[in-house]
Amino acid sequence: MEIHIEDGLEKSRYQQHIETVTEQFSPLPDPFVFLVYEDPDSPENVIGTTDIQPRSLLEEACRRKSSSSFTVNDIDIIIIRIDDPFLKDNDDALKGLIAHEVIHAVHRETGLEEEIEDASTQYSDLVLNRLANYEMTKDEAIDFLRDVVSTAVFCLKDIHANTDIIEAGFGDELAEYYYHQLGIDSYCPLPRFYQDETSITQIKEAVAFELQLTPAWLPFKKHDNERAKRMQEQIEECYELNIPETAKAIHGICSLYEQAYDDDRFIESFYDTLFEEIFDLVDLKLQD
Ligand SMILES: [Zn+2]
Repeated sequence: MEIHIEDGLEKSRYQQHIETVTEQFSPLPDPFVFLVYEDPDSPENVIGTTDIQPRSLLEEACRRKSSSSFTVNDIDIIIIRIDDPFLKDNDDALKGLIAHEVIHAVHRETGLEEEIEDASTQYSDLVLNRLANYEMTKDEAIDFLRDVVSTAVFCLKDIHANTDIIEAGFGDELAEYYYHQLGIDSYCPLPRFYQDETSITQIKEAVAFELQLTPAWLPFKKHDNERAKRMQEQIEECYELNIPETAKAIHGICSLYEQAYDDDRFIESFYDTLFEEIFDLVDLKLQD
């Protein structure tokens, strides 16, 4: 494991938290490289201390991404970007973020992320065939398919990530991270936007909005924590304000998580349930 920390940051703090967190997870990839930096415009300062090639690919990824976990030429890389002030002084939130990025690397290692991606591909024909019943162009249908599938994949990866983090004993730290990252105390994560009731684009955005926030609260059903409870209440209010029908329509994936997360077929059942629910929503909105 290699840890590269930008000059000017408190190196021992980041080093120590990365070590504490990684000790609790396995299998860790090898090679495994951490880049910790603050300024997204000059990632070359920290990249310059590594041997990773090609540099250009990595620099581009660092400029584009906030904190994330990805591979370049079979090297697993974790970026921890200290772009929010709370990450500088809140140790728990920092550990929650590190745990989240580390578990993605672990799930690449075990093949879980690939399994989630592969399972999603079998829904393309189904989705396009169902959309053929509605008035829309082929491009609109393909665009809907691509966006909904990619947010579903993202959601499922993060649900698994956060469930495992809670099981590994970092639930409080993870809740602390999301609580600050989503600005739970101060505002609804997104302003009201769901108004055009008959547009496939609006349905797509409402589904994406819900699926992006779901991993921040659903796994906490298994973890009793004040921050997490407050977060769930706030996100539910936010759903009610922004996307009441979508929130209602997608209840099935939540009960499925509570009842069948440990089943071998959970991933397929998740997609089956989600796509059925999305089509019920499309029916409700577009068939008039
Ligand atoms: Zn994630």
